[in-house]
Amino acid sequence: MTNPTTPKTDRFYPISEPSITELEVAYVLDAVKSGWVSSLGKYLDVFEQKFAAYCGTEFALTTSNGTTALHLALVALGVQPGDEVIVPDLTFIATANAVAYIGAKPVLVDIEPDTLCLDPAKLEAAITERTKAVIPVHLYGHPANMPEIMRIAKARGLHVVEDAAEAHGATIAGARVGSLGDCGVFSFYGNKIITTGEGGMITTSDQAFYLRAKQLRDHAMSKDKRYWHDEIGYNYRMTNLQAALGVAQFERIDALIERRREIFAAYQEGLRGLPVRLNATAPWAQNVYWLICAEFPEFTADQRDDLMRRLKERGVDSRPYFYPISDMPMYRQDPALTPEAHAASARGLCLPTYSNLTDQDVATICSILRSVL
Ligand SMILES: *Cc1c(COP(=O)(O)O)cnc(C)c1O
Repeated sequence: MTNPTTPKTDRFYPISEPSITELEVAYVLDAVKSGWVSSLGKYLDVFEQKFAAYCGTEFALTTSNGTTALHLALVALGVQPGDEVIVPDLTFIATANAVAYIGAKPVLVDIEPDTLCLDPAKLEAAITERTKAVIPVHLYGHPANMPEIMRIAKARGLHVVEDAAEAHGATIAGARVGSLGDCGVFSFYGNKIITTGEGGMITTSDQAFYLRAKQLRDHAMSKDKRYWHDEIGYNYRMTNLQAALGVAQFERIDALIERRREIFAAYQEGLRGLPVRLNATAPWAQNVYWLICAEFPEFTADQRDDLMRRLKERGVDSRPYFYPISDMPMYRQDPALTPEAHAASARGLCLPTYSNLTDQDVATICSILRSVL
């Protein structure tokens, strides 16, 4: 039974939806009609050039998705079976899986409770003789503490791969994520800041690394002798059709990010006075709010799940924070080793966040949340 005083919505608010305009339609149509439908074409070149310039890197390399971009980056950096790679315990599973694909070991390290990103002090404590690289994740649009992470990584000779899959355009002191580590990795999945349907990108200013990643992405074909291969490579390419969608999205990225910031402000306004904490942004960071994060400090995971169920009954989708990687059967470790990741994971949920939401939509979602609390 629904409470008769509960505000009604005749529509269903998904957690995310892409923003597709006539511009996207025109570019994709142009790409199809051109015949350049596979992994060569002008949209790929333009997308890579513009994305590199935007991030402030020398190079950008398109890939088939963000997971293959992560894997490719690690292989191109020379991560070997048996090496250790440090990843935050609270992230999407792909961050850890990319390490496991190599036969290397993801070492799960705790997060900072405010930013939800890798805790630099705990990173330092987790480094061993075998540690080869670290993958800070800019979770939910908030940059990880890169100045500290880079200081530690440089002192210990570690590679740094930024997982920026959720944080296109986020900055620290004006410098964009993707330009802060040895390389950055982005995803253009349908629910990300900008989309190509499926797709990914590696950004870097290291030419040797860029050329190595590019060759491995294209079956590791010899540069001097076509159809000759000295090692096992991959087909991790993006298509020109996907890039056409990406170029159109990229032309709108500033407006799309600005709208996310406005949506965050509208949620803050709509939830004022409730016992809920929204995305915290460190003073040194500029957040792009990939998802609105709501934490109920007093909640157990069961209460959180119950709230999500009641929101859904009233037409508002939501999703729990990621589960700690260390809870998954493949990567199981003692939860006491990562208490902050476990605490945040239990109390947090994400609310609908996409640029097509109007301020009125956010107000409706907030009043529904207020009524079911
Ligand atoms: C989405 C995502 C990925 C993987 O990207 P896909 O394009 O879906 O393969 C990797 N890491 C994080 C943190 C993500 O959110």
